[in-house]
Amino acid sequence: MQQGKIIIITAPSGSGKTTLVKRLLAQCPELAFSVSACTRQPRAGEVDGKDYHFYTEDAFKQLIDEDAFIEWEMVYEGKYYGTLKSEMQRIWGDGKTPLVDIDVKGALAIQKQYPSNSLSIFIQAPSIEELRKRLVLRGTETPATLEERINKANYELTFAPQFDTVIINDNLDAATAQLLETTRSYLLA
Ligand code: 5GP
Repeated sequence: MQQGKIIIITAPSGSGKTTLVKRLLAQCPELAFSVSACTRQPRAGEVDGKDYHFYTEDAFKQLIDEDAFIEWEMVYEGKYYGTLKSEMQRIWGDGKTPLVDIDVKGALAIQKQYPSNSLSIFIQAPSIEELRKRLVLRGTETPATLEERINKANYELTFAPQFDTVIINDNLDAATAQLLETTRSYLLA
């Protein structure tokens, strides 16, 4: 496969990754979002081929057999997600750099495969207490799922030192500026 650069972004939930990724894509036309494959149901407003390539479990497993993925994982119980080799080829073929928005394990897997042509970025909430506050304010969690998310975030935080850059999202505009700066200098290098 002819290779260009890859930008990998990962974060524990509640760290504001989705907003930062949207802002980065809007301000950096050299990047293109890498559309993952997955087997979960589309949410309201999600478009097949734009947000995800939605597959049945059988079709996804067929792709695994065909060696179509750079990495794939069961991110949630019974739900598969994977980064398609064809997506990277398409984006590189367009002369752009793929931006991969992916969970921590998948991010490490891609980083390991492309150590010399990837930039991996870990977005972090300022503290577990702040993360707890944000999740409570968001109002989407029960006490049990709140604890589950906090525990998962605590675990995922232990991986932060393995990434090229850690951005602490305590202020959205400052974190966006830092993300843009880091990405642009990597693309220019
Ligand atoms: P959601 O179902 O909320 O869209 O995504 C759930 C999680 O799966 C997020 O952490 C997201 O970053 C991750 N994810 C999305 N695409 C991929 C992928 O291709 N591979 C892996 N390993 N994780 C992914």
